[in-house]
Amino acid sequence: MSSRSADFAGRVLDWYDRHGRKDLPWQQAVTPYRVWVSEIMLQQTQVATAIPYFERFMASYPTLADLAEAPLDDVLHHWAGLGYYARARNLHKAAQLAVDRHDGELPAALDDLEALPGIGRSTAGAILSLGMGRRAAILDGNVKRVLARHEALAGDPARSEVLRRFWDVAERYTPVERTANYNQAMMDLGATLCTRSRPACGICPVNDSCRGHAEGSPAQYPQKQRKAATPERATRMLLCLNARGEVWLRQRPPSGLWGGLWTFPELPLEAGAPAGQDWPAFVHVFTHFRLHIHPRLVRGDQPPVVPAGITGGADAGEDAGVNEAPGRWVTLAPLPALGVPAPVQQLLQRLQALVENES
Ligand code: SF4
Repeated sequence: MSSRSADFAGRVLDWYDRHGRKDLPWQQAVTPYRVWVSEIMLQQTQVATAIPYFERFMASYPTLADLAEAPLDDVLHHWAGLGYYARARNLHKAAQLAVDRHDGELPAALDDLEALPGIGRSTAGAILSLGMGRRAAILDGNVKRVLARHEALAGDPARSEVLRRFWDVAERYTPVERTANYNQAMMDLGATLCTRSRPACGICPVNDSCRGHAEGSPAQYPQKQRKAATPERATRMLLCLNARGEVWLRQRPPSGLWGGLWTFPELPLEAGAPAGQDWPAFVHVFTHFRLHIHPRLVRGDQPPVVPAGITGGADAGEDAGVNEAPGRWVTLAPLPALGVPAPVQQLLQRLQALVENES
């Protein structure tokens, strides 16, 4: 390691000793499994939001073997509201593979970890360093930002040749000693000081060697991806309520949008739908599109007949056949422990209120 790298790591570690976060739930009773679950949750979720989910998850599945044995439905239920459900499906699948291939432990080799679904190079690096005390570099969004600015790294890191340069720098700076603390410190630096739009360079421990800061406009790094306009889709959700106050839900196929979760039957707006009462439409935002949801309350004791092959706007291009998925009547009070996405949960709560009012 060059003296510049050693000096960088030293200052980052000093800062960590004074200001780094040390009381997060996944920093207690550390195991590779706990680190892994926390890393997956934190990929698209803020720390404060992830904490209660993490605690509930660990209470139900304290070990990797517990997770591997749990029904997927149950795991998705624990994930409900966090979004990006492929993360939960991959966790579950990877836990089962770890049982089959690695005696129920997470493997200690980068390649073996990366061979498990949902584990990329940075997550593998976090598991090895934070969970197993080994030297491995990480490069999550926060670390990428700090390094891009410190080194004034130009180019879009979504491009593979640019990303390779980011990894080279990450590897060069990662110290042999105290790698776990260093990696945690880099994530904390990015989350608290070197923030997206207003980096607090004045109190940053590496400001005197930071090229982005010296140039005067560190926020230009890393180069932002140019965003295409977000497509809009629309769907009609059929809220079928029977005389017993139960509602019809069906489980979506295991892959694709909201894979494995329970949702209402859906139809494109232009398709003929059973008569009912329209509720105000609202928008749910996904990473790649905005979904306009048009709920329609339909009363009756028969599940809705939705013609085979017709799928709702949410499903367009995703997973034809979703309406042929198995369904069932579910009670509204209490709601059963099923994995449902956030907008469906919202509608179920409104249905619950309606049924309570009517009874
Ligand atoms: S000096 Fe500023 S831009 Fe450079 S790493 Fe620190 S906070 Fe980020």
